[in-house]
Amino acid sequence: MQVTLLNFTPNPEKMVAQAARLCYSPQISTDLPPERVPSLILEVVKRGHESVLEHVSFTFLIEGMSRAATHQLVRHRLASYSQQSQRWVRFAGADFILPPSIEQNPRAKILFEELVERSRDTYQELINLGTPREDARYCFIQAVASDLMLTANARELLHIFRLRLCNRAQWEIREGAHLMLEAVRIVAPTIFESAGPPCATGVCPEGNKGCGHPWKK
Ligand SMILES: Cc1cc2nc3c(=O)[nH]c(=O)nc-3n(C[C@H](O)[C@H](O)[C@H](O)COP(=O)(O)OP(=O)(O)OC[C@H]3O[C@@H](n4cnc5c(N)ncnc54)[C@H](O)[C@@H]3O)c2cc1C
Repeated sequence: MQVTLLNFTPNPEKMVAQAARLCYSPQISTDLPPERVPSLILEVVKRGHESVLEHVSFTFLIEGMSRAATHQLVRHRLASYSQQSQRWVRFAGADFILPPSIEQNPRAKILFEELVERSRDTYQELINLGTPREDARYCFIQAVASDLMLTANARELLHIFRLRLCNRAQWEIREGAHLMLEAVRIVAPTIFESAGPPCATGVCPEGNKGCGHPWKK
């Protein structure tokens, strides 16, 4: 899987700090000293005043994620998505994601690869028979890879990271969340400083279902 940060609000940290400062000032501070930016962000976020984070957004290109994982990702309703359409795009040489647990087991890997081959061949044969792409795609298994664009504001991203970086989340969406976090930390390190599952900053809510291995940055 590959995750690329395509675009983001310019000066995201300054924008959030300005929003935070405005809440407690008679007018917006256009000349906010740069050294005030991190402390303003950390102060308001610590207090749960998270709406200031909604003024900045980030757009990612996510390539090579299985439909099994993208289906989970798009459940995050406050983000926006554009996903390659299996109705219109010809998936003749489709890629399929091989889960590590299957890769590590020789017999499981053979079974999986046979099914992938069959899925590819069946798709091609259905297309050759004149089947519309929107129907031929029904023979794809959930491992079929696709590309999508995701745009979310910083508040929603922190929420996604809270849920999807948890060791209890599914491995592929966790990997995607991890790559997204790595990318945004470069451009907005303070906003995403404490990003991670609940155990990164406090107590695991999973109780006896917890993984027992607190998350490491
Ligand atoms: C480990 C794990 C296991 C899961 N297992 C399953 C499963 O077995 N089956 C299944 O169906 N799903 C499952 N999910 C998906 C889960 O139920 C959520 O749909 C998904 O994580 C999106 O989270 P969200 O609704 O908080 O986020 P978003 O849609 O990103 O929303 C962000 C926040 O906005 C608020 N919000 C958004 N929309 C509404 C609304 N309509 N009403 C009120 N508040 C709203 C909520 O506070 C929400 O937390 C699982 C998720 C995880 C992380």
